[in-house]
Amino acid sequence: MKKTWIWLTVTACVLSLSLFLRLFAAPGVGRIIVIDPGHGGFDGGTQGAVALEKDLNLKVATSLKKALEKRGYFVVMTREEDVALKTVGEQLSTKKSDMRERLVRINASGGALLISVHMNHFSESKYKGAQVFYNKEGREAALLMQEGLRKMNPSNTREAKQADGDLYLLSHAKMPACLLECGFLSNPEEEKLLMDATYRDLLVQTVASAVDAWSDGLRERHGKEITYGKSKNRVFVQ
Ligand SMILES: [Zn+2]
Repeated sequence: MKKTWIWLTVTACVLSLSLFLRLFAAPGVGRIIVIDPGHGGFDGGTQGAVALEKDLNLKVATSLKKALEKRGYFVVMTREEDVALKTVGEQLSTKKSDMRERLVRINASGGALLISVHMNHFSESKYKGAQVFYNKEGREAALLMQEGLRKMNPSNTREAKQADGDLYLLSHAKMPACLLECGFLSNPEEEKLLMDATYRDLLVQTVASAVDAWSDGLRERHGKEITYGKSKNRVFVQ
């Protein structure tokens, strides 16, 4: 009887320890990711034959939030509904106040990485393919995302590009930042794909895996903890 108890205790300890190690070895533990679903409210963004950008952005962003939370990240969203943002006390939201408030929320989040979600559009319908833009600090995460997106869809030959100061949030975010253009709503085939939940899920899982790879890379290279230049945001590395 005594032996059985000892066995049970030992087994319980081993199981708890392995669960503990598994949890804390997860890439996302301790990391905050900020997701910004572009546009919202009066600002619909771009549109395809049927789809409106702001709606698809929110759908992708919401699934990405769930996917990242499952992987152990803590996720902050700039919006979770179909709204434009405005500063408390402001009567009306304008494009300017919306962007300003997004930036306030992003920089107050303590996030290790910003992912702003958008849909692309061009005057010629032949252009297609998901593409990631980034600020200087976000290069590594963006390259990993783009690599995943190209593998996901081999006809996509687009490359990740550094934003040259024209993307407000990327220029002013005090953390590594990526702007994910999920595809072109001006391309009828891609619009159809982006409206399909299964395709969106594939896209979301691809981006989440890239975030994991980025997170793992940070841990390997920087050891226990690193600090990001402008913001001094602490990035926790297990
Ligand atoms: Zn947009």
